[in-house]
Amino acid sequence: MGTIVSLIHQEAEKVLSDVIRIRREFHSYPELSFQEFRTSEKIAACLDDLGLEVRRNVATTGVVGLVRGREKGRTIALRADMDALPVEENTGLPFASRNAGVMHACGHDGHMAMLLGAAMVLANLRERIRGSVKFIFQPGEEGYAGARQMIEEGVLDEEPRIEAAFALHLDPLVPSNTLCIRKGPIMACADVFMLSIIGKGGHGALPHKSVDPILVSGHVITALQAVASRQVNPMEAVVLSICTIHAGTAMSIIPERVEMSGTVRLFDAKLRESMPSMMEEIIRGVTAAFGATYDFAYVPGYPATINDGKFTEMVRSVAQEILGPGRIWELERPRMPSEDFSYFLERVPGTFALLGVRPTDREPVPSHNSKYAIDEAGLLAGVKLHAAVALRFLGAEA
Ligand SMILES: [Zn+2]
Ligand SMILES: [Zn+2]
Repeated sequence: MGTIVSLIHQEAEKVLSDVIRIRREFHSYPELSFQEFRTSEKIAACLDDLGLEVRRNVATTGVVGLVRGREKGRTIALRADMDALPVEENTGLPFASRNAGVMHACGHDGHMAMLLGAAMVLANLRERIRGSVKFIFQPGEEGYAGARQMIEEGVLDEEPRIEAAFALHLDPLVPSNTLCIRKGPIMACADVFMLSIIGKGGHGALPHKSVDPILVSGHVITALQAVASRQVNPMEAVVLSICTIHAGTAMSIIPERVEMSGTVRLFDAKLRESMPSMMEEIIRGVTAAFGATYDFAYVPGYPATINDGKFTEMVRSVAQEILGPGRIWELERPRMPSEDFSYFLERVPGTFALLGVRPTDREPVPSHNSKYAIDEAGLLAGVKLHAAVALRFLGAEA
């Protein structure tokens, strides 16, 4: 791998200025989930120019580029997500968003630019590739399961069939040239639930003539926390948050019903399966005790993102060579946000890892913030990692 690594360093350095220019272009024209039309056009044109086989309009705005190597072999997918967020940008950057109320505040502009950079590098190294690399540009990551739609439209199964997948997510709080990695679960699943507590409305002065759903809700909310604190093994991470609650119209009226909704975050698939029934048992018991009824709907969202042990080991060794010693942070614990790359990892082994891009010229802020900014020079490491992971997986000759 020695020669290949130095080749990757060389080739990636050559494309860095293009990568930064492309990232700024995407940053200036951010588009919301499944509306990434302009973005999609740019990506397809760029892949076209590189001589890749290009499939457009997958899952509406998704794009797939394919590099076939000199010889037949295995196939790996590298993935970037495309969508921006409904956030009004407040960075003061010269290339700040020109689309009011929309901003690349999760770094997906950088993901696309890094992956296009890797496509440039690998297109140049085509002669050394045994097998194929699929570059997957995916819409609708921010809550719309674009990855699942891409899979339903065949990106994994159509020839050449994908055998492994790799994705990077930028992290603006971690220093540049640092990769955060973890075997097994790395991002949580994100389920949601809707709950109505149904009582009997009446006069606020005559509670005995009604069933007060607000009082019942108070008990239900408290009791639900026992799922996380008393029914689940304390060594297992789980979050159950009620995030909305609405009821009532006047100060002297006991309302008919209370509407609530919330989110459940966890990592273990078995625990996830039993979550709806554990919650419903508590809701049923508490509402019955007060003579109220309920409607409860548990809606599964993104599954937990689970990294394959062997593939992650390979990524770690590649990253050590590319980034140098001491640049890999082992995440002790998985993170509570979720990621729809999990759908790919349900189907093929692979790794999702976080790449540091902490800005050096301003106070770093977390993603989804209106002041989100990155160290653009840090994108170089992402270009190299994408290319090197693909080449190592395909067994490129040094
Ligand atoms: Zn995000
Ligand atoms: Zn994101």
